[in-house]
Amino acid sequence: MEKRVWRRIGLVVATVLVGAAGVAAVGLSPGSIPEESRFGADLGAIRALAVSTGAPLPTALHSQRIARAEGVPSAMVVAGAGLGTHTFDFYAYQLVYEGGRTVLVDAVHDEQTQRDNFPDAQFDAAGFARMQEALRRTDVVTVTHEHFDHCAGIARSPHLEDIARKVAMTEEQLHGPEAVPAGFTPEVLAKLAPLRYERMHLLRPGVVLIKAPGHTPGTQMVYVRLASGREFLLVGDVAWHMDNIRLPRMHPRLVNWLGGEDAEAMAHQLRWLHELQRSAPDVHLVVAHDGEQMREYVRRGLIADGLL
Ligand SMILES: [Zn+2]
Repeated sequence: MEKRVWRRIGLVVATVLVGAAGVAAVGLSPGSIPEESRFGADLGAIRALAVSTGAPLPTALHSQRIARAEGVPSAMVVAGAGLGTHTFDFYAYQLVYEGGRTVLVDAVHDEQTQRDNFPDAQFDAAGFARMQEALRRTDVVTVTHEHFDHCAGIARSPHLEDIARKVAMTEEQLHGPEAVPAGFTPEVLAKLAPLRYERMHLLRPGVVLIKAPGHTPGTQMVYVRLASGREFLLVGDVAWHMDNIRLPRMHPRLVNWLGGEDAEAMAHQLRWLHELQRSAPDVHLVVAHDGEQMREYVRRGLIADGLL
């Protein structure tokens, strides 16, 4: 009798272990990337919209690193990437027009938010102060998505009263489940008017927003065309590293599950970006947390280091 009970317990434990191993194996594997993308953004239409007003285009793209988190397991960034670690850098971007008008894209979180979320990460307080000053002076600020590392710098800005009317965040970003953890409390939301558009929107000459829900409901990509003809596509966190697009391979399913992502939508976006790289190599993709890629753009003189 006792033997039979033990055998049964052994069987249950073995089943649980095999089940757990199976879940872990599936969780660590990436969702498949389709051969053909249904994302459906049309580069020709985006390019045409960017220059449609005939108004002067921005003359430069600047970036400023505000924070850095080291030791992110590589296997969580690119599925199957092995046992190494990746570094996540956190940037704010600024487009500068002749005469000094600016557009800001992404407002990195403040130091307190950083301590609450990644206590071991590095924070550049001077860089954050510079971004806040740039926010105070900007014409308009938009964000790639509503995660705190891209927009808490707005919600927790010491200049919120002054900048509220310049905030161009979408309905999905301001009212999605990630907004409150990023600091968009009812009091903050009461000061902001959501931006509403379908598919794509000309924010300013040369700056087109493209809806890309998947990583979050409010994710959008930001296409930029400079007066020189140079083009960029800020893809936010649709990819965490350029390898996600280059291979193309997503982060593991576990991250999709924990992050509440629409993995299928992201897979179609990654395929679209992968094909775009081949069909339009002049469009420089900018992956939000890929510091290696940013340093290379700065080295080549394509992006200026530091906000004005
Ligand atoms: Zn992010």
